[in-house]
Formats: sequence, C-alpha cells, structure tokens
Amino acid sequence: MPEAKLKVKLLAVTPQALDVIYSAFRQCYSPKYAADILKEKISQPAKEKFVKKVLASGHESPLEHVSFTFSVAGISRVLTHQLVRHRIASFSQQSQRYVKAEKFSYIVPPLMRKYAYLGRKFSKIMRLLSQEYKEIISFLESQGVKGEAANQDARFILPQATETKIVVTMNCRELLHFFELRCCTRAQWEIRALAYRMLAICKRELPAVFATAGPKCIKLGYCPEGKFSCGRYPRREDVIRGHKSER
Ligand SMILES: Cc1cc2nc3c(=O)[nH]c(=O)nc-3n(C[C@H](O)[C@H](O)[C@H](O)COP(=O)(O)OP(=O)(O)OC[C@H]3O[C@@H](n4cnc5c(N)ncnc54)[C@H](O)[C@@H]3O)c2cc1C
Repeated sequence: MPEAKLKVKLLAVTPQALDVIYSAFRQCYSPKYAADILKEKISQPAKEKFVKKVLASGHESPLEHVSFTFSVAGISRVLTHQLVRHRIASFSQQSQRYVKAEKFSYIVPPLMRKYAYLGRKFSKIMRLLSQEYKEIISFLESQGVKGEAANQDARFILPQATETKIVVTMNCRELLHFFELRCCTRAQWEIRALAYRMLAICKRELPAVFATAGPKCIKLGYCPEGKFSCGRYPRREDVIRGHKSER
C-alpha cells in the first residue's frame, strides 16, 4: 500500500469532548446555564443518545466547540496542497525555508511502484533533483548566501513528491465535512489514506459523533458522483428516476 510512510498521531482533543458537545446542544433547548448542565449526573450512553439524535436532525454547530489536533508525517506536498484548501482547519507545516532538505526524501506514487520502468525513471529524476538542489545550495553558500536565504530559492526545484510534516487542527463539524469529501473514492489516494486514518482515531475517541462518519454517500443515502460512482450507493439520478416513477 502506498501509505507505508504515512504517520498520523493524535496530539490533542478537547477535554471532556462528549460533555462539552452535550452541554452546548442542551444550551440551545434549555433555560439552564451550560456550566450547570455540564455538572448534571447524566450517563455517557444517555449523552451519546441525545447527541446522535440532535445531530441526525442536521443541527451541527455545537460540534464546533470540540477540536482534534493531529501530527501527520510521511506525506507529500501533493497531499498538503489539497489539505490546506480546507479553510476552517488550522495548519503548521514544516518550512522548506527554515528546514533544508538535508536528506531529500519523497513519496513514491502507486503507479511508479507498479511499473518497474516508471519506478526507475522516477528514482532517477528524484536523485537528479536532490543532487541539483544540493549543488545550488553549495554554490549559493560559496557566494556568501547562507541559511534561509539559500533554502528559499533552492526549494523552487523541489518536486511535489517531496516529503513533509504538518500539524492539523479541525473542529468536529469540519472533520465530518472533511471525511465526506476525502473518504470518497473520488478523492486522491494519498489524502484518502490520511482521511481514513484520522477517521479511525475520531471514531475511537468520540463514537457519538463519528460512528457513522465517512464519505458523503453515507449521509445522503445516494451517490452524487454520477458516472464516477463507485457503486457503493445508488446514483442520485437513479434515485430521482425511481422516485418519479413511483408517483
Ligand atoms: C474529489 C475532489 C476534487 C477536487 N478538485 C479540485 C480541482 O480540480 N481544483 C481545485 O481548485 N480544487 C479542487 N478540489 C478542492 C475543493 O474545491 C475544495 O477547495 C476543498 O475540497 C475544500 O473544501 P471546502 O471548500 O468545502 O471546505 P472548507 O474550506 O473546509 O470549508 C468547509 C465549508 O465551509 C463553507 N465555507 C468555507 N469558506 C467559505 C467561503 N469563503 N464562502 C462560503 N462558504 C464557505 C463551505 O460550506 C465549505 O464546504 C477538489 C476536492 C475534491 C474532494
């Protein structure tokens, strides 16, 4: 599997996550003070049941009070370029300006592994880029350009395959949205592998919210991807056609 290098660790999750979400939900429907609701002696299963029920109605904003922070490594800049498009999340990524690619490492995509010819070509290009990158830095240093000033221009020749590390924080509402998009088979393989690893952690930590999370078809009950559908759920147009013929 191409995700062999992928590392995903949970750095932190909001303490008393279920209690916080439960109190926030209850605050919407209760004259009580949320801080007092938090102290009420209500069993965890009862809280989970309540949270699941309200979530199913589409009321999601209380989920924004709980966040997960992940440390992710062994990924390419192809992946992080897609990841950082999620604007509701927060990111801290290893800089190519402050951190010189001393030991240049990169992610090999599946098709470059599948075909030996492409594998050889890919490694050859990576070796060449690595060598040229080092030569550019050495040359700049010989001219008195050092450290970040040299790195920031030399990095222009580094490929999208370059390995990187990133810290990601998302609140639960954004995580559900992220999983809907990135667990789908239409998502690119590397970010999908990351999404599934994050989803497994979220399911373990907060099943009331994430037990049924995943690609958007799970929530919709149909696939909106048309001819690109993986077939897991009926296609949207087939559902509409079936609905019309019943009338
Ligand atoms: C299969 C796939 C293919 C893709 N292909 C391309 C591509 O070819 N080119 C490309 O550029 N991108 C592409 N993307 C990226 C995509 O367009 C989104 O930028 C990315 O998925 C982030 O999603 P988002 O904007 O919904 O999420 P987030 O930024 O995480 O936002 C979450 C939600 O908040 C709301 N929101 C956030 N900001 C705003 C705002 N400014 N105004 C209104 N509502 C807002 C929206 O409801 C949004 O869904 C692709 C994504 C997928 C999953």
